[in-house]
Amino acid sequence: MLVDPVPPPNSLRRLKGLSPKKAEALAQAGFEYVEDLAFHIPGRYLDARALIPLNQLRKHLREPVSVRGSVISSLVIPGRRRSRAAVMLQDQSGGLLQLVFFDYPEWRAKQFQTGDEFLIAGYAGEYKSVLQIVQPPFIEHLASPEEFVQGQMLPLYYLPTSLRKAGIRDKEFRSLVQKSIDAGKGLDLFTEILPPALLKRHRLMPRTESIEEVHRPKTPERLEEAKRRLKYEEIFFLELRLAVERIRMRRAVKGVVKYDVSRMMAVLEEKSSEAQGIAERVLLSLPFRLTDDQRRALREILYDMSKEGQSYPMNRLLQGDVGSGKTIVALLAMLAAIENGYQCAFMVPTEVLAVQHFDTISRILKDTPLKTALLIGGQSKRERAAILASVASGETHIAVGTHALFQKNVRFQRLGFVVTDEQHRFGVAQRKALIEKSAEAANVEEFERDMFRVTLHTPEIVTPDVLLMTATPIPRTLALTIYGDMEVSTIRELPSGRKPIKTMLFFEHDHAQIYKAAIRRIEERGEQVFIVYPLREKSQKVDSEAAEKAYEDLRSKAFKKFRVGLVHGKLSSQEKQDVMRRFRQKEFDVLVATTVIEVGVDVPNATVMIIEHAERFGLAQLHQLRGRVGRGSADSACVLVASEKLAGEAENETSDEIEQSSLALERLRTLVATSDGFKIAEADMKFRGTGEILGLKQSGKVRLNIADLTADIALVEQALKDAGELLEQDTRLARPENRPTREEFLRQYRDAESYLHVG
Ligand code: ADP
Ligand code: MG
Repeated sequence: MLVDPVPPPNSLRRLKGLSPKKAEALAQAGFEYVEDLAFHIPGRYLDARALIPLNQLRKHLREPVSVRGSVISSLVIPGRRRSRAAVMLQDQSGGLLQLVFFDYPEWRAKQFQTGDEFLIAGYAGEYKSVLQIVQPPFIEHLASPEEFVQGQMLPLYYLPTSLRKAGIRDKEFRSLVQKSIDAGKGLDLFTEILPPALLKRHRLMPRTESIEEVHRPKTPERLEEAKRRLKYEEIFFLELRLAVERIRMRRAVKGVVKYDVSRMMAVLEEKSSEAQGIAERVLLSLPFRLTDDQRRALREILYDMSKEGQSYPMNRLLQGDVGSGKTIVALLAMLAAIENGYQCAFMVPTEVLAVQHFDTISRILKDTPLKTALLIGGQSKRERAAILASVASGETHIAVGTHALFQKNVRFQRLGFVVTDEQHRFGVAQRKALIEKSAEAANVEEFERDMFRVTLHTPEIVTPDVLLMTATPIPRTLALTIYGDMEVSTIRELPSGRKPIKTMLFFEHDHAQIYKAAIRRIEERGEQVFIVYPLREKSQKVDSEAAEKAYEDLRSKAFKKFRVGLVHGKLSSQEKQDVMRRFRQKEFDVLVATTVIEVGVDVPNATVMIIEHAERFGLAQLHQLRGRVGRGSADSACVLVASEKLAGEAENETSDEIEQSSLALERLRTLVATSDGFKIAEADMKFRGTGEILGLKQSGKVRLNIADLTADIALVEQALKDAGELLEQDTRLARPENRPTREEFLRQYRDAESYLHVG
């Protein structure tokens, strides 16, 4: 690798006492400049008050713990495949703890001298009644017993394995961080970047001081203040960026449709029962009464469509738990748009779901002159050409489809209303692409158009109204942060008559019992069963093969007497649809599936959902899967089957493995404990971090080192307001006191330059 002969002043290579080899390892791990280390915030702190006496450790198995002990013995145990070092520690309480290290050379084991003191943090397990921490993620030799004194807080940094391999231990890393802070201060790298007025208003700790404090806290209280400042700073710049994008988006708006929704509104508010148009007729002829929440959501949407008191296109998020009845709300809104002479597009993430929505909508509109079209991959050329022509001529009123709907060759005659269902599913992959696109092109108009504003293809220049739907609800401020200037409607109540779904957690060794219960449902009540396998690999092929194997096995053994179907990602779109249709028509008792059935699939007679390797799914995903049952009037069950290794005591389970499995179990228990989608979404964000969920992390654009958009919601609210106000007062951040803010903003977001310079 080429090394710059003269590293820049802030390069870590310039730190005294750092060998080129270690500097290289650090650079490889993403630590190239002193700022990288200074902003590498410790994940945890070891507080002397929180040390657990070893004789109490048994009460804290499989939880994060910090302990201290001195070595009483150390030996290398040769193994058949790998040797390991076993180091026994004891503390003043008299309790014992064994540390186990794999592949430890003998000389390392010898470094543990009898009487040496160590601080250790990690997850403890128990094997054959010996308490152990295997591969402790944090271990520090104490030179003298005084070195770690009461009240002191020691930062614990997450060190990538590559750094440990390069011989960098915790203590050295800590000292490198301190050296980096000193170097950064010398180079004026941590000068204030927040507007003075905000610093004062929120009583924020100065920047340099905060950085010093988080790496070497004087008191827990000061640590909190320092973190609050650094979090605010991160969130503030994120909000500032989003505020700028919002302004640009609004400028990009072309034409706005003012829909006349008065008749529909009157019927909805029960001021009129006169069905003059199709929309009202459909509304009045529904086989059920809309819930109050559905009504309110629809009113909010219609109000936006009417553009009373606003001059922007609708941009609204409709969030409602699985099964809360979002589809019909969207359909009624679409009908109102159609009554006004516009076409609608209904975009969904999967083909299976597209077909289902197409079926549902066609069924509801059966007695009307309205025409619905389905546009998905895998349609024949002729079929596709006919559909495209009908969409282009305006003959089709509603086009349902996957993102195939928004390919360049799709033209609408008068597209006025766009619905995106299961918005969260577009999250990771699509939104990432979009964010990247917007960043690289520095052109938000383009990205907007590609996603839903197909103004390019309509003769009449109109920016359609957009309704996004999701069953993964997020707090309003977060929605604002993620989706920009978006209004939110929420459906909280489920239609009456739904029975709660009983959720249970089992392990693989319980299979016989689980299948027996499922079979009873099939035999005694004629109900149907889903058995779902997770996406294990990145490849559809491997997953499909795993599902195929499970299918063969289930069909020839546990469910031999029953009709078993199989659906997975490797099937063609047509085959998938066939299987789903046949399952809906009760031609199968059991459907073995990969996650292709995750979203939106509606089969009321299916009452049992068995999810294999449940720990491999995200919480929101599990909740979605669970929502595939409980759709009819019969009581339903969701069985989460966790892998055997989560069940407990295994030999030499490492601290990291224990950490992972206890988190996994905690996640699954959340699902057993609650069926409230809002609570689950919150928990999901807690476990996985908002960045990951919302596809922000992958974008590389949003670097949240310390802030957490869910946990720090009050700061998000504040920063959102502050950023908006700041731009209102000083649109281009041109005032002298805002200069540093402007410079930092441009440093973080180069692509935003055009906004601040032009116009
Ligand atoms: P989701 O919000 O998860 O997309 P759907 O729109 O698929 O939910 O609705 C789930 C089921 O509930 C559908 O079969 C739908 O016909 C039915 N449904 C919707 N609204 C009501 C209501 N107000 N009363 C009874 N059933 C309803
Ligand atoms: Mg739905």
